[in-house]
Amino acid sequence: MSKNLLELIFKPKLHSMAAITSSLLRNYAGSASVRAFAFANVRVPPPRTFFNYNPVSFLLPFHSRRSFSRIGVTNDEEALAKAAAVNADSEAPTIFDKIIAKEIPSSIVYEDEKVLAFHDVNPQAPVHVLVIPKFRDGLTMLGKAEERHTEILGYLLYAAKIVAEKEGILDGFRVVINNGPGGCQSVYHLHLHVLGGRQMTWPAG
Ligand code: 5GP
Repeated sequence: MSKNLLELIFKPKLHSMAAITSSLLRNYAGSASVRAFAFANVRVPPPRTFFNYNPVSFLLPFHSRRSFSRIGVTNDEEALAKAAAVNADSEAPTIFDKIIAKEIPSSIVYEDEKVLAFHDVNPQAPVHVLVIPKFRDGLTMLGKAEERHTEILGYLLYAAKIVAEKEGILDGFRVVINNGPGGCQSVYHLHLHVLGGRQMTWPAG
């Protein structure tokens, strides 16, 4: 088929598509109410915690930028956990004592005389709730558990189930306890992470 014949067949279609597109843009994008609606409904996505701006990342091909950033955040978490480990054996109060005392605010999901459950300030899943004993009793970490703690340890798991129920994730959720610097623990007051609202992957990182 000659070039001229091809142009004859396709050009009118291209012209009419362009005309429709530009008329749509004129009619809708130009309207002040539509612009206002679009503006009001813009949702800024929450920061993705694996993303960490790195000034040299633009030098990398796209596929390696994300993993490079992940490593950056992982190292930050590990460094934080290592720095926090000095409190592993100390009876020093933690940020969670202030949360229990309501000296700093938290978004509480469940509370009774033994435990407090509140949303994590840096969620790693659509649902991310921390469950803590109100009375720490030496349980800076799970590794410090003794026989006298069995009742509260069992109760914390039960509270995790209550949280999952309240958050509507009973059909699929994960409970995590980070222990010590090797486990990336950063707050030395025993706590369970209850995570859900998305498909969990395995093995955990
Ligand atoms: P870890 O790393 O020790 O297993 O978990 C500690 C968790 O506590 C982290 O997920 C962190 O985001 C959370 N966290 C630390 N400080 C606060 C705070 O002030 N408020 C809330 N809601 N969570 C916190």
